[in-house]
Amino acid sequence: MSIFSPSKIGIDLGTSNSLVFVPHQGIVVNEPSVVAISLEDNVILAVGSEAKDMIGRTPDTIVAHRPLRDGVIADYRVTEAMIRYFINKVTGRMRLRKPEVMVSVPAAITSAERRAVVQASLKAGAGSAFVVNEPVLAAIGAGIPINSPSGNMIVDIGGGTSEVAVISLGGIVAVNSVRIGGNKIDQAIITYIKDQHNLVIGERTAEDIKIRIGSAVPQPKDKEDEYEIRGRDNISGLPRNVTIKTNEITLAITNELSEIIRAVKVVLRETPPELSADVMDKGMILSGGGALLRNMDALLSEATGVPAYLTEDPLLCVARGTGVALENLDVYKRSIMSKR
Ligand code: ADP
Ligand code: MG
Repeated sequence: MSIFSPSKIGIDLGTSNSLVFVPHQGIVVNEPSVVAISLEDNVILAVGSEAKDMIGRTPDTIVAHRPLRDGVIADYRVTEAMIRYFINKVTGRMRLRKPEVMVSVPAAITSAERRAVVQASLKAGAGSAFVVNEPVLAAIGAGIPINSPSGNMIVDIGGGTSEVAVISLGGIVAVNSVRIGGNKIDQAIITYIKDQHNLVIGERTAEDIKIRIGSAVPQPKDKEDEYEIRGRDNISGLPRNVTIKTNEITLAITNELSEIIRAVKVVLRETPPELSADVMDKGMILSGGGALLRNMDALLSEATGVPAYLTEDPLLCVARGTGVALENLDVYKRSIMSKR
């Protein structure tokens, strides 16, 4: 890392993961959005991976907080702590001048929350702070020419929210944000395994099952993957193993997938006809970790009739978008919501 502290810092403040991008260096931080706080004296003990590792392994006097739950700011102080941690991590102590900071926030947050993020960034050491909607930055990071006079559709499926937007001339023309994402999908898997197999599993196992064998559309019998779950029997309380297959997971998460499809359809309906024609031609671009669920693109194409394409590195594209936008502030000025 350079001995000079960076003058520009991009932060993707996600509901699951937060990333920091520094121009000419790339992604320098990629950690879970978690802050650990001690209940006794209300002190922040750890941020990021260190805080996540504390969950479940620490006495119950330590609680883990997520700054953004379901796409809204759950706790202002926790949000500020995360932003401060990131700024300190990349600028170090030898700070010559305060950096310009751009923060990606879910499109669902209110303008008051947006101002709160700007204030939190300034308090945390930013010289100036810009807040930009996640779908806009996802689109920029995916290399979509958002300033063109043409409709561009982006679907970002994160942990807490899914955000769908049509962007033209640098502005959002139609947008919809739903509180359904990877987390609700994991919960649906937990519920299914409990109801169908009397087995209790944790969130990490559910996520692992989803990533390893999950699919958004059913697979032919000979193409299904298997997963041996080690869980706790709901009745006896004793450890027990069960083997489940891909199509069970597809069934378990049908409702959540339908909600995401519905969110996309709402935006398609609200898009002016000329721009719809562009979207139809170019297809929708999928970003966010949830887009990595196998066959998500096929499901959305089939359900909407609009071709869907997965962007390169879906988990990184918002962070990269902050970098591109920071380096080209005047090009993207129409898309940038607020300063100070
Ligand atoms: P956010 O922007 O809300 O922080 P991310 O874009 O980081 O969210 O995505 C996190 C979500 O992506 C999590 O719910 C995680 O389980 C999910 N995810 C990550 N990789 C995969 C994968 N290969 N298949 C399915 N889901 C995935
Ligand atoms: Mg995100």
